[in-house]
Amino acid sequence: MSVKKQINRREELRQQLHTQGAQLTPQRAAVYDYLSGVEHHPTAEEVFMAVRPKLPRLSLATVYKNLEALVKCGAVSKLTYGDASARYDIRTDHHYHTRCLECGKIWDVDAREGFELLKHIKPQAGFEVKDYRLELLGRCRECRR
Ligand SMILES: [Zn+2]
Ligand SMILES: [Zn+2]
Repeated sequence: MSVKKQINRREELRQQLHTQGAQLTPQRAAVYDYLSGVEHHPTAEEVFMAVRPKLPRLSLATVYKNLEALVKCGAVSKLTYGDASARYDIRTDHHYHTRCLECGKIWDVDAREGFELLKHIKPQAGFEVKDYRLELLGRCRECRR
């Protein structure tokens, strides 16, 4: 991302947070920047471990609160999987994921045809579709070693 784009995104983020009565604090910005820079979708613990060296006074509880504020204002999406820790995704558009069944990590996958395929799936009568998820489950490169 170019510096100019980054500044624009920062301003956009500030406004998004503002609609929820929240501020863009340095901690929130650090959490957001980390999410923007990683390829997979980390848990709150992973965000905490990665951001803490830069912000030594940061606590895990604060990271949770910051992530929730980012989710609430629509800047970040939250992925939940039953009992497993929630994961946070910088993308909020409809897209697809690969998920490792061993380490639980999640990555984006490029599958533009996904939506077209889903149009052919007809749920039972009376079922109102609200959302959908497409995931490829397997083992990642690290776990296959
Ligand atoms: Zn894995
Ligand atoms: Zn994603």
